[in-house]
Amino acid sequence: MTLYALTGGIGSGKSTVARRLAELGAVIVDADALAREVLAVGSPGLAAVADRFGADLIDADGALNRAELASRVFGDPTALADLNAITHPLIAARSAEEFARIPAEKVAIYDVALLVEGGLGGRFDGVIVVEATPEVREQRLVGRGLDAADARARMARQATDEQRRAVATWVIDNSGSLEQLQDAVDAVWSEMGAR
Ligand code: ATP
Repeated sequence: MTLYALTGGIGSGKSTVARRLAELGAVIVDADALAREVLAVGSPGLAAVADRFGADLIDADGALNRAELASRVFGDPTALADLNAITHPLIAARSAEEFARIPAEKVAIYDVALLVEGGLGGRFDGVIVVEATPEVREQRLVGRGLDAADARARMARQATDEQRRAVATWVIDNSGSLEQLQDAVDAVWSEMGAR
């Protein structure tokens, strides 16, 4: 199996790119979905989070109050490091399981927003970075219902385009139309086949 990473800042168009790659035949493993799964109701990850951050983070139905957890780690590097120390190994183990299930002849794509932040840049056969200007991303995120100030704050907390470019094999510019994006993805897909 060939394993590529797909990353980009919030609102850059990763999910749209992942959908196209899936149409072309790639198997997508979604790091966000795994991140939710390792803190699901009743999971050991959730128990560890409750131990470290307080049982009051768990709602009456047993689910994690994610907004409250986010506010507790926001601006507190030690708390964030503690949270990552709980979740990162669990996500790594789950992603390894998912990769192991993918047939050898397939192209697999790990859709991972926080590739650079997680220090995972060097582990793949190649890295696709999706980019759009902060203005375009903000506009799209607002179009998806996010508050503009919230969108900007989230962008500011993520790695920069320069940091992502430093690990990129391919950079896909998504400041144009969806048709242009699809053409760019198709071009990368043919290059992947040629590698
Ligand atoms: P997030 O990091 O928040 O998950 P993302 O990087 O996965 O975002 P998408 O969800 O693919 O980004 O795109 C963000 C929004 O912008 C979506 O509503 C998507 O439909 C829209 N979008 C993506 N690319 C384009 C484009 N080229 N033209 C117009 N809208 C676009």
